[in-house]
Amino acid sequence: MIEIYTLGGYNEVGKNMTLVRVDGESVIMDMGLHLESYINFTESREDITQTNTKTLIKRNIVPDFSKISQFTGEVKAIIPTHAHLDHLGAVPFLAKNFDAPVVCTPFTVEVLKTLINDDEIEFKNPIKTLNINSNLKLTPNLSIEFINSTHSTPQTVMVALHTKYGVILYANDFKFDKFPTFGIKTNTDALREFGKRHNVLCLIVDSTYANAERKTPSESVAREMLMDVMLGTDTKGKCIIATTFSSHIARLKSIVEFGKKMNRKIVFMGRSLSKYVRAAENINLINFSKDVTIMRYSNQIKRELKRIEKDKDKYLLVVTGHQGEPGSTLSKIASGEYPFRLSPEDFIIFSCTTIPTAINQENRAILEEKLHRHKVRIFKDIHVSGHASREDLRDLINLVEPNHIIPAHGDIKMRSGLFQLADEMGYETERFVHLVSNGGRVVLR
Ligand SMILES: [Zn+2]
Repeated sequence: MIEIYTLGGYNEVGKNMTLVRVDGESVIMDMGLHLESYINFTESREDITQTNTKTLIKRNIVPDFSKISQFTGEVKAIIPTHAHLDHLGAVPFLAKNFDAPVVCTPFTVEVLKTLINDDEIEFKNPIKTLNINSNLKLTPNLSIEFINSTHSTPQTVMVALHTKYGVILYANDFKFDKFPTFGIKTNTDALREFGKRHNVLCLIVDSTYANAERKTPSESVAREMLMDVMLGTDTKGKCIIATTFSSHIARLKSIVEFGKKMNRKIVFMGRSLSKYVRAAENINLINFSKDVTIMRYSNQIKRELKRIEKDKDKYLLVVTGHQGEPGSTLSKIASGEYPFRLSPEDFIIFSCTTIPTAINQENRAILEEKLHRHKVRIFKDIHVSGHASREDLRDLINLVEPNHIIPAHGDIKMRSGLFQLADEMGYETERFVHLVSNGGRVVLR
């Protein structure tokens, strides 16, 4: 018998977690945080590590796994598919409930270790590294395959769980980028092979943009947009500050390359930036340190900004704070907490979108208002998404021809978009496409 338990990420974007149970053996895909709840909680109460699991669940910070509490002893692996916190961030808090190794790609392992060390968490589960496009036998009946996938952070994978009934393909957070600027393309050969053999029993898939009628543009488009702003406008005599997702190593790489072309000294500022960059450097994925000065701590940033201010048109500053987070470097610069004054027509480049939650929108509005007071030039949305849109989802379904589809990663509106697409593609939706909420269960056979 194969059952899928949809534990988190099926009512919202966030706290992803799914359990696949095959004849009494289980595998957990993703164990993520609900970021908004996490930030709210940690802002009001410092020590999350001393908070018990029950409270974390009650506060909506981690997935509620009570539906699978009777299976905790039979879990064979916990598999975070990539380093984003809504897929990885609950591992330090919840893994202890399962006597199982955490298996993920080298970059994800590095980020996980940073999370554990930063919070000084006692972590006992073994951590295993599995490279992209590699296999691992978990038990005589179950093995996993990591299929490389393009997304907005390095070494993201789709997980193929091979069972005697066929493959369960978990594709949560992916895009089809034929022109990635860093890393390799999604392994469509492996996916096509599944399709040819007609053995994908179920596809569990990212529906964030299932309603967006388009193909998600390649990262190379975001690179062109950045080039257009950074090299295609007159920046002479102006300070340039760019901000993006700290885990988006590909985007940071483009920003650094254009900064070098402009002959500017490049400085990264902020905790989370240094965290992800160090993780990438630890596994030799990239070497920013030869071109970039990286600063993590507030005192150091303060000192350096005071020095930079005198010569600010010689610098490109890459800072945290793209969502307007109150404690971030950009917010502190904007509100004058750092000894660094913005001048009219200095450049602020937002290489991101505002994640559409109430708190982010409010924070961003406050930040932008402060920036406007300095009369700076603001360049917003210099960005493309890391999530597949409707036409990419159609391509994936055509490639792997799954029997069953479970839309994941989104609220009912987002997941319904995928349901409608499957309907349009001829699926007998009542039997084979499953709209399930958090805490749900689907029996496949
Ligand atoms: Zn992601």
